[in-house]
Amino acid sequence: MKRVAPVMVASENGRYGMLRAMEALRAGATALDAVELASRIIEDDPEEHSVGYSGLPNVLGEVELDASIMDGKTLRAGAVAAVQGYGRAITLARRVMEETPHVLIVGRGAERLAAELGEAPQNQVTGEALRRWEERFAERGLASGQNADLRNVAGLLTRPINLQDKIYKAGRVDTQGTVNFLALDLHGNLASAVTTSGLGWKYPGRVGDSPLIGAGNYCDNRYGAVACTGMGELAIRAGTARSLIVYMKLGMSLQEAGLETLRDLDGLATQEGQYMNIVGLTPEGEYAGFTTVPGKLYLYMTAAHEAPVLAERTALVAK
Ligand code: ASP
Repeated sequence: MKRVAPVMVASENGRYGMLRAMEALRAGATALDAVELASRIIEDDPEEHSVGYSGLPNVLGEVELDASIMDGKTLRAGAVAAVQGYGRAITLARRVMEETPHVLIVGRGAERLAAELGEAPQNQVTGEALRRWEERFAERGLASGQNADLRNVAGLLTRPINLQDKIYKAGRVDTQGTVNFLALDLHGNLASAVTTSGLGWKYPGRVGDSPLIGAGNYCDNRYGAVACTGMGELAIRAGTARSLIVYMKLGMSLQEAGLETLRDLDGLATQEGQYMNIVGLTPEGEYAGFTTVPGKLYLYMTAAHEAPVLAERTALVAK
């Protein structure tokens, strides 16, 4: 079988996961193992506040995790959404793919599956996450969340937050947000993974694009792998990840397909701070990042690199 040089692509907060996973890919790991490993490293990082442990809470102060994984060789996929009380959502997503006949299991069902499969329960809510949750009450001039009447929270949701906004404004580049990884392994197989605590301050049970195959994640060895970050509702409405793949299937290059996908998103955002970021990787090892706002970055790494490289995404700014 023809051997291919491994390549990884990720959202810009994927650096440490990518470093370890590329090492594994060089040693012969599968793309599927690489994207799971990389995701778990970011999920376990307590400094990463919108993925896994210490993720951003929903409006009730609870951390709910979403994740999905897809195997480009078989088109098998697994996902979980709105999971509380367990970390490593990406591994649970993989177990949905490999140990059940289903693709997506949510909430109580996913927590039940985690328990049945022997995953260790772990409270994902940290003091730091609660502090960030409280900050939102203070910013809005509301009583502290701990003491607030949370029986009717829908009215608080005029603008759920993506942590990236704040950090960009503070001028930092090592931003946080959903993390995603795409990998091409030595055998020419592609895989994709996305994991997140979703938008901070979201309504309980709100599910974003990350665990939705076709919206935030899609992978097919014949055409490529794609994953999204940003305001998940936009990628859900435009079917972003799968659209990009279909555009390539119909003959467009990765660059053309990415721009076409951005055109599909044009006009869907209704508030400042709503944007969509996309990364793509082809079976030939070509990679790219796209965004609806200028200045957003992504990471890539090939076998020739010693460390992940930060690159600017191609932007098609909304009119
Ligand atoms: N896409 C994620 C969501 O909507 C958020 C993010 O990318 O940070 O849940």
